[in-house]
Amino acid sequence: MNLGNSLKKLGIEQTFKYVYKDPEPNMRKLMDWADKFAGDVFPGQRKAIREAIENPGHPYHSYILHMFQDIDESVMTRLVTNFFINASLIGWPIQEKLRAKYNCNIPWTILLDPTSACNLHCAGCWAAEYGNKLNLSFEEIDDIIRQGKELGVYMYIYTGGEPMVRKADLIRLCEKHDDCIFLAFTNGTLIDEAFADEMLRVKNFVPAISLEGFEEATDSRRGEGVYEKVIQAMELLHRKKLLYGISCCYTSVNYDSITSEEYWDMMIENGAYFVWYFHYMPVGNDASVDLLPTPEQRETVYHRIRDQRSRKPLFAMDFQNDAEFVGGCIAGGRSYLHINANGDADPCVFIHYSDSNIREKSLLDVLRSPLFMTYHDGQPFNDNMLRPCPMLENPTKLRKIIEKTGAKSTDMQSPETAEHLCAKCDSYAACWTPKAEELWEKRKAEKAAQRA
Ligand code: SF4
Repeated sequence: MNLGNSLKKLGIEQTFKYVYKDPEPNMRKLMDWADKFAGDVFPGQRKAIREAIENPGHPYHSYILHMFQDIDESVMTRLVTNFFINASLIGWPIQEKLRAKYNCNIPWTILLDPTSACNLHCAGCWAAEYGNKLNLSFEEIDDIIRQGKELGVYMYIYTGGEPMVRKADLIRLCEKHDDCIFLAFTNGTLIDEAFADEMLRVKNFVPAISLEGFEEATDSRRGEGVYEKVIQAMELLHRKKLLYGISCCYTSVNYDSITSEEYWDMMIENGAYFVWYFHYMPVGNDASVDLLPTPEQRETVYHRIRDQRSRKPLFAMDFQNDAEFVGGCIAGGRSYLHINANGDADPCVFIHYSDSNIREKSLLDVLRSPLFMTYHDGQPFNDNMLRPCPMLENPTKLRKIIEKTGAKSTDMQSPETAEHLCAKCDSYAACWTPKAEELWEKRKAEKAAQRA
C-alpha cells in the first residue's frame, strides 16, 4: 500500500487536521481510531500513549501537546503516517509473515552509511576506521530501500561517516520514498536554513544530533566551535517546527554530565523531542578501554535515565540498559542490521564483521547468511536483559560466532580480530556481571509486584 492509498483509506490527514484544531480532547479520539485499526499490534505502546493523553499529570501529557503545538502540521502528519501506519501497522505484519516463512530475522529498520566521509575528525570515532573515501551510490541506497520495503521495512537510519555530506541525495531519497521515515545520526554542523527548508518540504527526515556533553566536552572531542554550531542547528530546527533528537555516547569521562538535570534541561529548552543514549564500545584496534564506564558509573546512568524520563518531557532510550523492552539484542536483523559505505552488511553498528556484501547478495540472502543465522539462533544472548550484548557483556559468544561463521572484519583501515576486540571486553563483562545480576533481580521483583 503506498502513502496516498494509506492516507486515503485511513483518513489520517483529516484526522490530524481535526486533532490540530483542539489537540487535547481530539487526541483521545485519535487513540480510539488507532485502537480500532491496530488490532493486536503494539498493544503495550498504545496503552502507554493512551495513559499519557488521558492524564494531565503524566510527564508525557505535556510532551504530546508540545508535539502538536510545536511541530509543523504537515510534517507531523507525514511522520506519524510513515512511522505508525507504514513502518508499524503495515510493515510489521509483512515482517512477521516473512520471519515465519524463511525462519530468519527480518528487520524493522535498516541502518546504512551513505558515506564514510565526514567534515569533522572526532577523536575515537568509529567512522574514521572505514577510511574517508567509501560511498553507497544513490542507486545502491535506493535499491536497499526498494528491497527493504518488500520485506515490510519503512524506517531507514543513516549513520556514517557524516550522512549530511550527501544531503542532496538524502533529500532525493526522501522524495522518492515518501512512504518511509528517514533518521540520520549527524554531527549537526551541516544543517542550515536551506536544508531545514528542504526538510519542511519532504517532511520525512529526522536528524539525531550527536552531542558529547556541554561546550568543553564537545569541542575537545569534535573541534573548536562545534558545540556552538550544534546549538544553532537545534535552535533552527525548533524555530522551523521540525522534529529532531539528540544522540549521546556515555563514557567513563562524560557519563555524569550527559545524564545531569542541567543537560536534560538544555535539551528540552532547545526543543529536542528525543534522546538516545549509547554505551561506549571499545571498537577498533586503537580504542581505549579506559573510556568504558565502571559498574558503578553504568548503574548511575541506568538509574538517572529512568528517573529523568519518568519526570521530564523528553523521550529517552538507553540502549544498553533498556534491552528488557525489546527482548535483548536487536542486531543481526532481529530489529536492524547495518550496511556500511562499502556495502558490507554488519549485524550491528558496533560489530564490524561480515560474511555478506549488499553488492553481491540480496537483502534477504544477507539475512539468511551464516553470520546472520547464527545471530538469529543465538538470540537472546543472555536472559539477563542488562547483559544483552554478545560482545560487551558476553564476549565469549562473539568469539564463537565469528569463529563459526568465518565472518571477516569490515574495518578497511585497520582490521581488528574478534579476539582483540573481545579481549577488551572480558574484564568489563566480569566486573559488570555481579552488578547486572543484582539490578536485574530487583527489576524482576518490581515487575512482578506491578503485575500482582
Ligand atoms: S550486538 Fe550488542 S551493541 Fe549491537 S544491538 Fe546487540 S546488544 Fe546492542
